[in-house]
Amino acid sequence: MRYEGIVYRPPSEARSLIIQVTIGCAHNTCTFCNMYKEKEFRIRKMEEIMEDLEEASHSRYASWIEKVFLADGDALIRTTPDLLTILDAIRRKFPQVGRVAAYGTAQDILRKSGEDLAKLKEAGLGIVYVGAETGDDEILRYINKGVTAAEIISAGQKLKRCGIQTSVTLISGLGGRGKVREHALSCAKLITEMNPEYASFLTLRLYEGTPMYADVVEGRFERITADEIVEEMKIFLENVRSPGTVFRTNHASNYVVLAGTLDGDIPAMMRTLEEAKANHHYRKFRETGDLL
Ligand code: SF4
Repeated sequence: MRYEGIVYRPPSEARSLIIQVTIGCAHNTCTFCNMYKEKEFRIRKMEEIMEDLEEASHSRYASWIEKVFLADGDALIRTTPDLLTILDAIRRKFPQVGRVAAYGTAQDILRKSGEDLAKLKEAGLGIVYVGAETGDDEILRYINKGVTAAEIISAGQKLKRCGIQTSVTLISGLGGRGKVREHALSCAKLITEMNPEYASFLTLRLYEGTPMYADVVEGRFERITADEIVEEMKIFLENVRSPGTVFRTNHASNYVVLAGTLDGDIPAMMRTLEEAKANHHYRKFRETGDLL
């Protein structure tokens, strides 16, 4: 298998075969993100993808592959015929694969017709991971996400109508000290309206070289403390209504690990947050010169 640069995938795709169908991220200008800064975006040649699938199908682990993840940042930017060709090859070479997944931006999802998404679902695309980050339009503009909250919601609802599962990621602390409540309430509204199968929060971490890192160092953005992040999460949980959504804050960046299903497990998760705050029982981050 040939991989170009660092390849990112969601934690739940740890055991998946990863195939790069694009290199990098076409947007690549979110002010907090450094994931694909080293890569110049391009659509990968179909011959290379087919060669990778062929090689993987001859590996001794081939029969164990049950899931495939299409990388890099926004695989859904490829045309629907291209994606159908790739999904068809996966089905032929790995008949036991039960689910294909990809990262998808709201822009990519909205560009596809409902008919196209239904065809992709039929061909095996089972879940799309959407990095929403927040539901607040002002914060979305500040981080240069390139979409509005209404567009993210509309993209999620479109996936749902087409039978494709959605996993939404949000970022604790993304509004800074000035927008704790707005960020929490807007995230609750976003998840309520999308009612995704999965939702999770990371915690804001900033790498040197990103515009937001400079904003912190130069005093234009004030990060919030672990106690404030707990309060932000409590506001989110008090206001979200999304029955059946599997909810997690179990990334290495999270101060408090939560795991439950909305809405029924909200009281238990609130108790976990209150206990963590009362005892200052937080997971520790290690800050370094180039990582805040
Ligand atoms: S956050 Fe996602 S869309 Fe934004 S630059 Fe990073 S990979 Fe691209």
